Amino acid sequence: MRIHDIGGEFALIDRLARQSPITHPDLLAGIGDDAAVIEGSSPDADCLLVTTDMLVESSHFRRDWATPEQIGIKAVACNVSDIAAMGGTPTFMFVSLALAADTEVAWVDALYRGMADACRRYGVVLAGGDTTHAQAVTISITMLGRVAPPNLRLRSHATPAEYLCVTGPLGGSAAGLAMLSAGLEPPPYLKDRHLAPGCRLDVSAGIAPLARAMIDISDGLAAEVNHICDRSGTGADIVVADIPIHPSVREAARLTGNHPLDFALSGGEDFELLFSISPGNRQRLDDQGIQVTTVGAVTDAASGRMLTFPDGRQTPLSGGYNHFSEKGKDPE
Ligand code: ADP
Ligand code: MG
Repeated sequence: MRIHDIGGEFALIDRLARQSPITHPDLLAGIGDDAAVIEGSSPDADCLLVTTDMLVESSHFRRDWATPEQIGIKAVACNVSDIAAMGGTPTFMFVSLALAADTEVAWVDALYRGMADACRRYGVVLAGGDTTHAQAVTISITMLGRVAPPNLRLRSHATPAEYLCVTGPLGGSAAGLAMLSAGLEPPPYLKDRHLAPGCRLDVSAGIAPLARAMIDISDGLAAEVNHICDRSGTGADIVVADIPIHPSVREAARLTGNHPLDFALSGGEDFELLFSISPGNRQRLDDQGIQVTTVGAVTDAASGRMLTFPDGRQTPLSGGYNHFSEKGKDPE
C-alpha cells in the first residue's frame, strides 16, 4: 500500500496521529491545527504556539525560478502564516538546513538575507537551527509564537450560520506557478504571490478577537474549508461568485488552459486567512476598516460541504493541494 492509495497527505497525517495518541494536560491543541498550543504558566497567561514547515527543492521551489532571497522570504512567511492563523504573534524561529557540499556560499548568504528581511517585517528572531548534508536543498523552519487565551482561534470552533470570510484574493500563487511551468513570464503580481509571498499578520490580530474558527490558506480554499468542517463537525456553502480572484489570475488561466476557479480552490500557498464569524462581528470588522470578503457560510453537517454556482447549481466542494495525491505531483 502506498501513500497515494490511502488518500494522500491528510490521510497519512491522520494515520500517524492515531498511532501516537499522546496527550498532556498542558497541550491544548496538538496534531490537527495550524500550530500546537501549549498552556502558559497559568490559565490566563499567554499560550505558547509552535509550528513547523519545510520547503524542499523541486517540490516547493526551483533555484532557476526563485532567487535565494525569495526562497528565504517564503520559508519565513509560511510559518508566520500558521501563527497568524491561531490569532498569535510570532516570536522566535529555528532553521534546519540541508545543503549539497558544492552549494555556493553566496547563495546561502542570500537565503539568510531573505529570511532576515522577513524576520524584521514580522518581528521574529532567529534563535538557532541545524545544518546537514543532502542532495536536495531543504529548509525546515520551526517557529514559536504566543497568543492570549481569548484570542486563540482553533479550526474546531465554527458554528452553523456564521459567515466564512477570506482576507484577500485567491489563486495567485498557483497561477504564477502555472505560468512559470508553461515557460511564460508571469506579471510581477503573480511572480510575487508565488515566489516571495507575504502573509496576513497585518490583519490577524484585528480579526482574531472577533472570529470563531480560523485557518490559513496554504492548500487551496476547498481543502481549508474542509479542514474547518472536519474539525468543527459542520457543513459549508461556498458561493463561487463571491470568491475574490485577481484579474491576473483570470488572464493566467486563459493563457495556460486552466480555470481560474481551480487556482483558487485547489492551488496552494495563498497564505491568506479563512475564518468563520458571526454576522454582528462581521459588521464590526467593517467598522474597524479591516477589509475581508465573505465567501459563504457555515451550515450544519447534514447539508455537506457545497459549492454554489451563479445559476443555483451546487456541487460538492472538493480539491485542495495534497502533496501525495496523483494531482498533487511535484511541480516539474
Ligand atoms: P499547515 O498546512 O497548516 O502547515 P499541515 O497540513 O502541514 O498544516 O499539518 C496539519 C497538522 O498535522 C498540524 O497540526 C501538524 O503539526 C500535523 N502534522 C503534519 N505532519 C506531521 C507529522 N509527520 N507528524 C506529526 N504531525 C504532523
Ligand atoms: Mg496552516
